[in-house]
Amino acid sequence: MTSDTATTENTMTPWEQLRAEALECTRCPLAQERQQVVFGEGPVPCDFLFIGQGPSESDDATGRNYNGPSGEVLDKALTQAGLSRANIYVTNITLCAAFEGSGKPRKLRPPKAAEVRTCRPWLDQQLALIKPRIIVCSGAVAAREVIDRKFKLAEQRGQWFDGPHNTRIIATWQPAYLMRLSQHDRPRAVEGWRQLVDDLRQAANAIAAT
Ligand code: SF4
Repeated sequence: MTSDTATTENTMTPWEQLRAEALECTRCPLAQERQQVVFGEGPVPCDFLFIGQGPSESDDATGRNYNGPSGEVLDKALTQAGLSRANIYVTNITLCAAFEGSGKPRKLRPPKAAEVRTCRPWLDQQLALIKPRIIVCSGAVAAREVIDRKFKLAEQRGQWFDGPHNTRIIATWQPAYLMRLSQHDRPRAVEGWRQLVDDLRQAANAIAAT
């Protein structure tokens, strides 16, 4: 190790150190499909943690969370709920995108249980540094991993649950799901959008009240 390297490592924050380690991760098969690991982003520590399913194709290409069209939907919903991405830490259940087959354009798939399990320590280590008070799980994969394995998103979204380290957790729709839904069922997508904003507003109010 050169003295320059030693100096750089010594000045890294615990979060920067964790991120640097995660960016090299090859623990599960998603490492073969990804362009890059997409680590969490936001203030550290942070009262508000938003957990999605996994990086989109655009996130995979840029290395930034909620970077593409679903990020625009999320930002719009956050604004309507009185929130801002600048005050939220955003990460995903898996830090690498999960693709179906190798065709172009690449089609996303939900991560497999083993992939989620293997990636879980990265989430736990982020949690320990972020120390959130409120967690929003976006989509069933995140809710089943963080709240309850039998979580039913359509029935239980918008309700509060106790989480680890005195956190409170609420689940809501995935922005990407609402985008897909709007292509074939506009009324349900509009209702889902209203619920997404309501759920985020509940989370904003919960933070304001504590
Ligand atoms: S998904 Fe998680 S465990 Fe799998 S390679 Fe990426 S960072 Fe590592």
